Parts: sequence; structure tokens; C-alpha cells
Amino acid sequence: MNGHGETEPLIPNDETVQRDSRTLRNRAVAWSVLTAFLIAVGVVALVDPSFVSDIGLSSGKLPRDPKLAAQRVLDIAPVIDGHIDLPIVARFVWRNNVTDIPLDGQMPMHVDIPRLREGKVGGFFWSVYVGCAKPEDEGADFLTATWRVRDTLEQIDVAKGLISKYPNDFSYAVSTSGIKSAIRDRKIASILGVEGAHQLGNSIAVLRQYYELGVRYVTLTHTCHNAFADSCGYLIPSVPRHYGLSPLGFRLVEEMNRLGMLVDLSHTSDMTATQALLHSKAPVIWSHSSARAIHDVARNVPDEVLSLVGFGEGQRDAVVMVNFNGPFVAADGEADIEAVADHIEHIAKVAGVKHVGIGSDYDGIEVTPTGLEDVSKYPALIAELYQRGWSKQDLVGLTGGNFLRVFEGAEKVAKELQAAGTLPKYDIYEKRDDLPPREL
Ligand SMILES: [Zn+2]
Repeated sequence: MNGHGETEPLIPNDETVQRDSRTLRNRAVAWSVLTAFLIAVGVVALVDPSFVSDIGLSSGKLPRDPKLAAQRVLDIAPVIDGHIDLPIVARFVWRNNVTDIPLDGQMPMHVDIPRLREGKVGGFFWSVYVGCAKPEDEGADFLTATWRVRDTLEQIDVAKGLISKYPNDFSYAVSTSGIKSAIRDRKIASILGVEGAHQLGNSIAVLRQYYELGVRYVTLTHTCHNAFADSCGYLIPSVPRHYGLSPLGFRLVEEMNRLGMLVDLSHTSDMTATQALLHSKAPVIWSHSSARAIHDVARNVPDEVLSLVGFGEGQRDAVVMVNFNGPFVAADGEADIEAVADHIEHIAKVAGVKHVGIGSDYDGIEVTPTGLEDVSKYPALIAELYQRGWSKQDLVGLTGGNFLRVFEGAEKVAKELQAAGTLPKYDIYEKRDDLPPREL
């Protein structure tokens, strides 16, 4: 753009006239080339109106073709999956021998590096899960199955070993800034999550040490009740033990808020979820849960709980990351990509579009939906939602933006609590008999 600044003559001398006439000739040529190009585009656009958007000429807009649109969305905002069970496959198939595990080749279940790349994954939580003990092994008060803390340490170890074995593909992350810089470097941000407070050995001190080891969420329960909270069971609700959180469970949530450990409400009973949602000062997550209104199983989140999620009065910011497990998605044999999209749209409708994400549960499930067989298939889900009218902004939130906002919120609350001098919780599980009784 030619502007007349104070140093330029308002009346041109001969030299500037000559220069200007050259400029005009050059411009005329440029304009005719551009005009010819625009006419050509216009002709093609008349033949196929989607052409203009398909080649991305309309700036900022997504191509009309759903597959191209999905690729474009995932280029900007790759998937951050809330829950992948790869470490338990390492344990059960390779006895955690990191050297033997061919993550850069063909893995037996749903996850390996080539398919993560094909699926445009920018990050995921590695679930350092170990199962609930049998009731007879842990005893009536959950006291005896303390080897689960050892096993959790082994799962943290195998996850870290695999992350560092492939430094060109994975980038270990413990914060939102770490996730973002991994994505900028075209690596897969790798964050750790503990799937059930039964893995804490009844101890808030263990929670603190898991945080030190890099764990950034703890699911309050798995399929079993524990000293802190009630589980929802699996498909059918369990008989409650604490009617939500136990007194120690409330302290656990407070300590998680202080640390910046995300409170994960997947697997919890409706009462646990409601109480934790109301008690937590920080935004919370469901790392891998779908919508009960779409498929009525205990493991899915009911509308009453979804309605407590949001930015309004009496609501808490959260993200519900939708689970792909066949039995949670639809009736036997009916789980497919459309049904998963239905769950996502329902949560977007009831909780709000800023409160939904993806938490596939890959490697931890036996039945995958048709069209979403493994981690290479996320683009198909994005394409399905685009076809249903989802905007670029909403899709970018779904793939990872909503989760990052929630995690940033939890980091901020932790910073504030620590700055205010909030003390760590030293509450002890009262059923323990290995410590002296509390002095009165
Ligand atoms: Zn799970």
C-alpha cells in the first residue's frame, strides 16, 4: 500500500512520475493475471461450488469435504485422548519388558505409533491402571491389598520407559504448557493418569508422591468401592458403601485441588460424582465416560450430573471425554461411529459444547465401535461431526481445547491455594491398625 508520509513529496517530480508509471504498468499486468485466475476459479466454482472451499480459498473456513475438513481441524488441534490403556497391555503381554515392546511396529490391540500418527494424535493420558483386588484379598475395610501400590509404580515405570524409548514420537508432559510444546514439536504429549483411588493404598501421602512422579489425574474409583469413594459398578449400579465420598474422600479432593492433580469422575457413582463436582474448587474431568441418556448403563453420566457442569451459577467447569467401549455406547452389536457421535452431541447439548472431549479407552476395551476400531480412526469421527454441522471452533474444543482449558483451570486453582498457604492434608484412614491411635 502506497501512503504519503511526511517525507514524501505531495506533488511528484519527474523521477517519481516515471517510477509511478512503471509501477502502474506492473500493477496492470498483475491485475490481469489475477483477474484471469479469478475467472477460472469462478468457472470451476460454477461447475462445483465446493471447489472454492475445498482448496481452502475462503480463508479460515474448512473445506466442504468432511475428510479434508477433519484433517484440517486435526492439523490445528490434534486429539488429546483422556484415557488409553497401553501400559496394561505392556504388563499382560510383555511383563513390562520395555525393550521387547514394538510400539513403532504392529501392536496387538488398538495403539501403536504408526496408527497414532495416522489418527493425528497430539497427546494422551497413559493410564497406569492396576485392577481392583478381589474382596477376599483386600478385606472388608480395603486394608490388605497394598501390593497395588507396587503394581502402580511398575505401571508408571513401564509408561515412562516406553515414552523415553521413542523420543522422536513421544514427549513426556506434566502440564498444559508441556502438552502444548509437545504438539508444537509434532510429538505426542504423554501424560500419566492413575485409574482408581484403590491404587493409593488408602493414603493421601501416596497421592502426593504419585504427583511427584508425574501423575496428573486420579480417577476417584475404578469398578470397586475404596476407602475414599463409591464406584458406579459396571453396567448395573453397585450398592453404595459411603453414599458418595467418605470423609477421607472429601480431604482427598481438597488435596488434589491443592496439588493440581485433576479429579477424574469416570467410574464413580452418581453420588460420588455430584459431591466431588460440588466440593472441588478446581474444574474436573471425566477421562472416559459417555452419556446415560443415549445408552442406559451405570458407567455413563446421567443428565442430572451433566446439568451441574458449565460456567453458570452452581455449576463447575468440566470436560466429559467420551468413551468408545461398545457396551457403553449402544446395545450389543450396535456400537458404531454414529452412536459415538450421538453421545458427543448429547453431552454438548446438556452440558455445553465447551464441556465435551474424547477419552476412547483404547487398549482397555474388547469391543470397539464399527468405524472406530483403533487410534487411526479419530479423523472419521471428526468428519462425522462436521457433516452434522459442527463448526471448526467446536471441533477444536472437542479434540483437545476443552480439556486444555479445564487442566489450565486446575493448575490455576493449585497455584492460588498454594500461594494462600493452604496446608497439605495429613488425614489418615481411620480403619488402619498399623499406626498408633490418634491422641485425643
Ligand atoms: Zn476405565
